[in-house]
Amino acid sequence: MASDPVTLNEFLTERLGAGGVVDDPNDLLRYITDWAGDHRGKPLLVARPRTTEEVAEIVAHCHCHGIPMVAQGGHTGLVGGAQPDAERPELVISLERLSRIREIDPLNFTISVDAGCVLQSVKDAAMEHDCDFPLSLGAQGSCQIGGNVSTNAGGLNVLRHGMMRQLVLGLEVVLPDGRVWNAMHALHKDNRGYDIKQLFIGAEGTLGIVTGAVLKLTPRAQATRTALVAVPDVAAALALYGQARRSCCDLLSAFELIPRACLELAFEAAPDLPDPFDTVYPVYVLLEVAASGSVDLDAMIEHLFEHGTTAGMVLDGVLAGSDAQAERLWQIRERMVEGQQLRGEHLRTDIALPISSLGDFFHTASRAMAARSPETMVIAYGHIGDGNLHFNLLPPADLDLAAKKTLLHDLEAALFSLVDDYHGSISAEHGIGRVKQTSFLNGLDATERELFEGIKALFDPDELMAAGRILPRTR
Ligand SMILES: Cc1cc2nc3c(=O)[nH]c(=O)nc-3n(C[C@H](O)[C@H](O)[C@H](O)COP(=O)(O)OP(=O)(O)OC[C@H]3O[C@@H](n4cnc5c(N)ncnc54)[C@H](O)[C@@H]3O)c2cc1C
Repeated sequence: MASDPVTLNEFLTERLGAGGVVDDPNDLLRYITDWAGDHRGKPLLVARPRTTEEVAEIVAHCHCHGIPMVAQGGHTGLVGGAQPDAERPELVISLERLSRIREIDPLNFTISVDAGCVLQSVKDAAMEHDCDFPLSLGAQGSCQIGGNVSTNAGGLNVLRHGMMRQLVLGLEVVLPDGRVWNAMHALHKDNRGYDIKQLFIGAEGTLGIVTGAVLKLTPRAQATRTALVAVPDVAAALALYGQARRSCCDLLSAFELIPRACLELAFEAAPDLPDPFDTVYPVYVLLEVAASGSVDLDAMIEHLFEHGTTAGMVLDGVLAGSDAQAERLWQIRERMVEGQQLRGEHLRTDIALPISSLGDFFHTASRAMAARSPETMVIAYGHIGDGNLHFNLLPPADLDLAAKKTLLHDLEAALFSLVDDYHGSISAEHGIGRVKQTSFLNGLDATERELFEGIKALFDPDELMAAGRILPRTR
């Protein structure tokens, strides 16, 4: 039996060399604590394979000896999936050394990569060939393609390019028993029966370890325009969205709702960040259009502003005149996330609704939260072009930690019950992990649960891989 750390360490060191195993308690810290510092796990050890074959060998060993394991990418996930379990120590298999760009085919508009490639490095590699990989998110300097696949990541450009599900053409996966499923196809059309790769996308590492992916590229945008638009309220923001989709020739690539309170949080995190307006407005929209051909984007935006102003949807607007100005506008969106972190304990959610219900939901949910806890601050922003709201809550600062946790737990239950009433989803893009498991299970009917459990049992009957994420452990 090789499940004790010493024997496992010997096996891993022999196969991977000294740099392939992490066992020093100080070095282990960054693999066991999540991005937000909310969760801390207990690993058996951390293995750092460099090739698919090494991953397969480690997994086969774990399968043979009943050793629980969990895959880890850039560790930016927000639902506690990548940290090792605190009660049943797992071998963390970090993909950070599987980081080769395998091939770029600019005519086929595809890139083939190791799963440990950091998202930004894939975007950079695509740019060198006059292409873009259009997944963009705040954590792109750290998150990895394998993590993006496994969480079905979304981000800022989903309304134009879709989520990871729409961007993956092929996958290579090490199954929980150590077999390698190689489907690194670079085909834009492929109707050979079941689309097995889709099972691994969004599976949060519960069905196998992704080691490679073939991703769709788009032509590199030759022109981009970014604007921050002040609007009277959320209803106007949604009306403007409908107009922008129709009048921007499908070139709209981002449409983010940012209420004033979010701007204030961004300024708290980055006091040097300038307010682009002299006047304070209640709600803003950050939008972007991008084109790869010769299109007059300025005329397009001006037309949208004029129409929006006449229709009472637009109060004011700033169109970035340079890349640096555009970057400063995007900084507002990025830094407000940091501002929330600085406020300490808070509730982060990631809900999806039909876009047409968003306005009504926004007001009903805000009223419901205020009725339960008037001092709690609602910070609701997000990718409204995808019907995705981060309806977050900052509890009163004067409560102690335990009281904050209890309050947020109750408010979350009330919020999710409303999401249900509106036929929405409690996870638009972050996934279930361990954090959302109870709410997720409450929303499954018997047939759905049977199908979920059947899929897990087919791939991982011994529950050794990422057990306890999405579904609870049964053993
Ligand atoms: C500031 C910030 C902004 C963010 N913005 C967005 C956003 O706009 N949109 C969005 O969708 N998400 C966002 N996220 C969440 C996060 O970045 C994504 O979920 C991302 O896809 C996680 O990738 P990762 O490599 O960090 O995965 P990790 O956190 O390491 O892992 C996430 C899950 O995937 C599994 N996993 C990781 N690698 C593999 C693999 N190779 N094979 C199998 N399973 C694996 C893990 O076990 C875990 O369950 C944000 C996070 C932060 C911190």
